[in-house]
Amino acid sequence: MAVCTGDQGQQSLRRGSAIVPAVLQPVAVGHKTLSDYTHICGRGLIEEIRELARPLKGRRVVHVSATAFGGGVSEILYTLVPLICDVGLECEWQVIYGREEFFNATKLMHNALQGAPQDLDEDQWRTWHRYNEMNARELSGGWDVCLVHDPQPAALHALVPEKAHSWLWRCHIDLSSPNIATIERLAPFLSGYPEAIFHMAQYVPPYMRANVNIVAPAIDPLTPKNMALSPEDAAFVCSQFGIDVDRPLLCQVSRFDPWKDPLGVIDAYRIVKESVPEAQLALVGSMASDDPEGWDYFNATIAHADGDPDIHILNNFNNVGAIEVNAFQVHADVVIQKSTREGFGLTVAEAIWKGKPFIGGAVGGIPLQIQDGVTGFLVGSAEQCAERALELLADPSLGRALGRAGKEHVRSHFLMPRYLRDYLRIFGRMLGV
Ligand code: UDP
Repeated sequence: MAVCTGDQGQQSLRRGSAIVPAVLQPVAVGHKTLSDYTHICGRGLIEEIRELARPLKGRRVVHVSATAFGGGVSEILYTLVPLICDVGLECEWQVIYGREEFFNATKLMHNALQGAPQDLDEDQWRTWHRYNEMNARELSGGWDVCLVHDPQPAALHALVPEKAHSWLWRCHIDLSSPNIATIERLAPFLSGYPEAIFHMAQYVPPYMRANVNIVAPAIDPLTPKNMALSPEDAAFVCSQFGIDVDRPLLCQVSRFDPWKDPLGVIDAYRIVKESVPEAQLALVGSMASDDPEGWDYFNATIAHADGDPDIHILNNFNNVGAIEVNAFQVHADVVIQKSTREGFGLTVAEAIWKGKPFIGGAVGGIPLQIQDGVTGFLVGSAEQCAERALELLADPSLGRALGRAGKEHVRSHFLMPRYLRDYLRIFGRMLGV
């Protein structure tokens, strides 16, 4: 049975007469077909993928992650997993079980690994380990490859190495300047993985003994979030959320998280508003089920907006789903991702795939996608962000030129079939085929 988890923290399964926590929920990912991508990515890449997949036919692969909803990892796995199945492997995605105490600890860990000063206390480390033990016990065996995403379930390999022939740790976060105490405490759990994938070479911690692969993630051009949407349809959707579609709109799509800097985006918008009083801002953010801080930061963002009727703060509880995100990205005059830390930033590729004028923080994976002045603009402060936004609002042809270059950059580097090919190459090497 495939169960799509949304509230996996609350679920339980009846096994015999005992009620035990529902650990490792399989996620229902639906079906996707590689050949549908041929007209976008080209026949050469699709054939290369089929060649790589042939000797891997029937191999069993499991992805393990912390949540099936919200954030970049789940966004990727909803496409990557069905495409791996489509090319002939048996692939599943399972989400670990965790209660609030676990996700409080792992959010702290996530922040510390991206450089926040606060490490977990002894109790929180014990909680993290205890939930990993619980999930490790329940992981079924016999996998050819087990791919563990991010630090939340990272202890699985150390706990039950026998359950898969080969293991891979996939890191989605920026580990370039971590809290030293946190990374050193995690190190013994990471260093045993035989293979690891990072977005960028500067994220690789010094003591990884794994064979390290540098592979950037990608977006799916055929999902409702990224498929072609007409300007008229996009405007129609945005108007339903109170946007005046005849006035300029700045937009950021992101979780409510300090590293995404929604408060800095509001500051930039306020500077823009001094010269362009008709400007509006939309902050669109989903609440991830493994992000207990999200609501606090959502409220802090509302407080910072201070009742300005031209600032629209929306989330998935206002019915903002994939199509609406698409519509906001298509309709906005300028899309912003003013992060101060960013593992990769799928929202960047999503925006420039739509040919939009884009401004991003010059951090983490954003410069991989944005060549300053060519595919968008890179900034380091709210003031610079405002300056670039004013430039783009004053000169729409500049924005269109950046957008065109951005779209081609995404087409050749950041679409899902390329990412699938990179995974198949790694699986082939790991399994010796
Ligand atoms: N997202 C969404 N709705 C929102 C906010 C974000 O669907 O209201 C999606 C966004 O489109 C992107 C993903 O969540 O696909 C965020 O991935 P990213 O790599 O940008 O950041 P992360 O949240 O993983 O740090």
